[in-house]
Amino acid sequence: MNHFSYIDGELCCENVPLRRIAQDVGTPAYIYSHATLVRHFQAFDGSFKDLDHLTCFSVKACSNLAILNLLASMGAGVDIVSGGELHRALLAGVPADRIVFSGVGKTEEEIRDAVTAGILMFNVESHQEIDLLSRAAENLGKKARIALRINPDVDPKTHPYISTGLRKNKFGIPIEDAEEQYLRAAGLPGLEVVGIDCHLGSQITEVGPFVDGLNRLRNLLDQLKKRGLNIRYLDMGGGLGITYDTEQPPEPIDYARALKERLSGTDTTLILEPGRVIVGNAAVLLVQVLFTKKGATRNFLVTNGGMNDLVRPSLYGSYHAVWPVAKTDRPPTTVDVVGPICESSDFLAKERSLPEALPGDLLAVMSAGAYGFSMSSNYNSRRRAPEILVKGDAIHVIRRRETFEDLTRGEQIPDLG
Ligand SMILES: *Cc1c(COP(=O)(O)O)cnc(C)c1O
Repeated sequence: MNHFSYIDGELCCENVPLRRIAQDVGTPAYIYSHATLVRHFQAFDGSFKDLDHLTCFSVKACSNLAILNLLASMGAGVDIVSGGELHRALLAGVPADRIVFSGVGKTEEEIRDAVTAGILMFNVESHQEIDLLSRAAENLGKKARIALRINPDVDPKTHPYISTGLRKNKFGIPIEDAEEQYLRAAGLPGLEVVGIDCHLGSQITEVGPFVDGLNRLRNLLDQLKKRGLNIRYLDMGGGLGITYDTEQPPEPIDYARALKERLSGTDTTLILEPGRVIVGNAAVLLVQVLFTKKGATRNFLVTNGGMNDLVRPSLYGSYHAVWPVAKTDRPPTTVDVVGPICESSDFLAKERSLPEALPGDLLAVMSAGAYGFSMSSNYNSRRRAPEILVKGDAIHVIRRRETFEDLTRGEQIPDLG
């Protein structure tokens, strides 16, 4: 359920026609619905309300300060994967004790900053990171709370690039090494071992992999309790999928029920790290048709939005629905919706049936809220798009369009003699 719908033939975000936003701020632009963000967070978080839990939104899915601030105001914590995301989270007003830090390649500087900030927990991914973290915390006269990220070897049945919990992936500590590393970490002076963590992958559309993962974590939890470790947090990561096309992912309530059944009696706080399921369907990328072009074998709509704005189709072959902003009774044609970038992988949608379009028409690339703006780049020296938050009748610019000055900030021409 989201808040993008046609009113009198015009696609609107809440009460605002997208056409009006295009007039105000231009295109391409990311448009987020406040009501959808609130609804999705509450539906997810509320599904766990009878359980001791913390929902830590995955910042990498959508890292705009206004959105982090909105989620934090509803009680969310965050999952971060870099020092830059720590900076954003703190600036957005997320309390440090609601921040967990994941990632396979944390640097010493990032670790120090996060220890100093006093974050809730590090999800540690290797035995070398255990040692580095202990030393860094000790040098600061502190103890860092840690979970070990376990690689449970569970197949999430999603795109290979977004599977992370398989033995062959770079993530986490193999489950068969976990006990040894836990006992070692528990003996180090800079660490307080408090949790078990896993993250299976992204865009997972069935509960089975989550249940398998949790079962393995529970066995490990029992094993560690027997060894005298006081594990207080069980972090199940993120990964719950959304509907882009015809997928039928479980509802948050069903996902929650499946997890809760297996958590009774564990006496732990459940941590969840959803990203996509909160923001994915809460935004569209609004683009304008520049040219309609008949190729030898295909017809193209060349738009002013490209792979630098939304890379998911190029990177993962992802499907995003494309809707005309104004309904017409022109006949449908089959087209590829492509961008202006000098790459053949620059497409937003392939072989879609859309009403015949004309230059100047607006299109909405749907479900663009997760890994949309946050993965965008300046490739081809294109300025990154603005981000707009709509609430009711109001339009808020939460990130302005980049300027040409932004594009070359930090660059210098040296005197080469
Ligand atoms: C990317 C990521 C998430 C969020 O995944 P979604 O599929 O967007 O829910 C959560 N935890 C970790 C460790 C991640 O890397």
